[in-house]
Parts: sequence; C-alpha cells; structure tokens
Amino acid sequence: MASDQLGYQPLTMPEAGGYDYQYVEEPPENLTCPICCLPCREPQIVDCCGAKFCLSCIDRERLAGRPCPLCRTKEFRMLTDKDHKRKVKALKVHCTHREEGCQWIGELRHIKDPHLVKDCQYVLDECKWDCGQKYTRKDIKFHEQDECVNRPLELVLLKKVELLEKQFEAQNKSENQSDLIFSFPPSLFSSPLTIDQLIDVLDLLKRCGFPQTRWHELGLTLGLHKYTLDAIKRDHPGNISRCLTECLSKWLRRVDYVDSKGGATFDSLSDALKSMNENAAADKLDQEKRNAMISGNDIKGTNDVHSTATGPVPPTGT
Ligand SMILES: [Zn+2]
Ligand SMILES: [Zn+2]
Ligand SMILES: [Zn+2]
Ligand SMILES: [Zn+2]
Repeated sequence: MASDQLGYQPLTMPEAGGYDYQYVEEPPENLTCPICCLPCREPQIVDCCGAKFCLSCIDRERLAGRPCPLCRTKEFRMLTDKDHKRKVKALKVHCTHREEGCQWIGELRHIKDPHLVKDCQYVLDECKWDCGQKYTRKDIKFHEQDECVNRPLELVLLKKVELLEKQFEAQNKSENQSDLIFSFPPSLFSSPLTIDQLIDVLDLLKRCGFPQTRWHELGLTLGLHKYTLDAIKRDHPGNISRCLTECLSKWLRRVDYVDSKGGATFDSLSDALKSMNENAAADKLDQEKRNAMISGNDIKGTNDVHSTATGPVPPTGT
C-alpha cells in the first residue's frame, strides 16, 4: 500500500478495519467501508462527500495527510454515524466457531458478549488446575472434574462416592419398576389411604389423565380448607405439580374437613373426580381398581402385606 512508501506505520490496533465475520446474508454495500470492504467498525461520515468509513480506516488516511479516498478533497472532518453503527450491529452473523460445530446465529452486537465471552461451547479455556492444557468449554468440565492429573484428591474421592450412589440408585429404581409392572396394590383401593401411599395416588391420578391445573378445585372437593390450599399456592407459585403433591399430602393426612367427606379413601377420590365432571379420569380410576382387584386375587397374600401399612379408619367411611 501507499502508506509503506511514505514510511507511515499504522498503529497496531487489535481491532482495526471492519467486522470480519461470516454473515448470514451478504451485507449491503452501503454498510461496508470503501477502504477495507467490510461492514464499518465505529463508522465515521466525512463532511466532504458523505462517504462512510471505519474509524481506524479513515483515521489512518487522515493522519498520513492523504485526501478523502473517494472524492480526493484534501481537508475533511469526520463525525460518528450512530444510525450506520446501529444497522451494522444488527447484521446477522454466524459464530466464529461455526466450523467446529457451533450453530449460533445472532446479531453482530451479541457475538462477543454474551456469546463468545459466556455461552459458546467451542471457545478454548485453560484448565483451572494449571496442567497447561486447553479444552473447549463443552469438554473442560469433564477434564477438570474427572480427568486432569492435577485435580485435587477431594474431587477424586467425591467422584467415587457419586459413582457408588448412582449404582445404588439404579438398583433401587429397577426394584421399583418391577413393582410397577404388577399394577397398584389392591390396598390402594380397599382400605383408607395413608401418607405412605402419596406416590401411588399421584401416579394413579397421572395415569388417569387428571389435569393437574385443577388441583385447587380437587382439594376443595376432597374437603381441604380454602386457606390450606391458598397457602400451598403461595408457597409454590406457578409450580402446579408441586401444588398437587402438597394438596394430596394434606388430604392423605386428613386435615380440615377430609373426614367428613369420607376420609382419604379411593372411593372419595373417585367421587370427587365425578363431582368435578372429570368423568373420563374417574372411569379410568375405577378401571385401575378392577385391574388391581383381579391381579390382587391372583397373588395370594398381597392384600395382607399391604394393609399393614394403612392408618386408622376414619370415623365416617364409605
Ligand atoms: Zn474499513
Ligand atoms: Zn470525500
Ligand atoms: Zn459459538
Ligand atoms: Zn488439567
């Protein structure tokens, strides 16, 4: 370039020239700088011919005493063009780690911060245990937690404990699942329910397609006080499934007027669904009862085993 012949050395600016990104669509020509041919960084408008350049591009010309590159006017002034800047910053770009696999597309204004600074999983970070290795964000957690030779002993031990807990959990789960295949225990349908059966009752309602959003109404119908239900709502705002769980747990503990509504039994649950016009759910509930009774009769003794877990009979049973 001519600047070399004049012995002019441009300042080493880390971000000189326009924005060199992969654009989703070819950037419009009126947003690109005539010197570097990229969308303008810190766009400046010149008062000679109204052309727009990157600050670093046009400043280099001006400091070297050269005329406006477009109209050759010797003296010109520059002004920041905010509207131009806004348009450039709104251009859609791909992440600079697209080739490695990052699918991010966003406005140019967001690629550095937050995307590259915080979110992009393909940026290389240094291992925090000073092993001198660099990993992409998506891999570094694993390296630091489970792999790095420099990681502290606590982490190694913690990992072992975690592994043991997982094995234990998996064992428990497979036992629970084999229970589920035998459908619900008949005691769920024949005896008063207790808090021990909360999970079964929840599961039952889920399988019958009861809409969780109606938990408040169900609570009222089952004999819970409005204040009790409002308190649940206040404690778990927006968490419908938690509200239903709390509501049923109160019911199983027979608070408020539950006993006068027939107590915590399968039949009062079924009646409540019917009076709420949840007939489909009530029918399915009854179907589950028939299934359980049939399979319960097939397995001798099941009834006795489960009925030991039930609580006292409510004063007014059905
Ligand atoms: Zn430029
Ligand atoms: Zn000009
Ligand atoms: Zn990315
Ligand atoms: Zn490391």
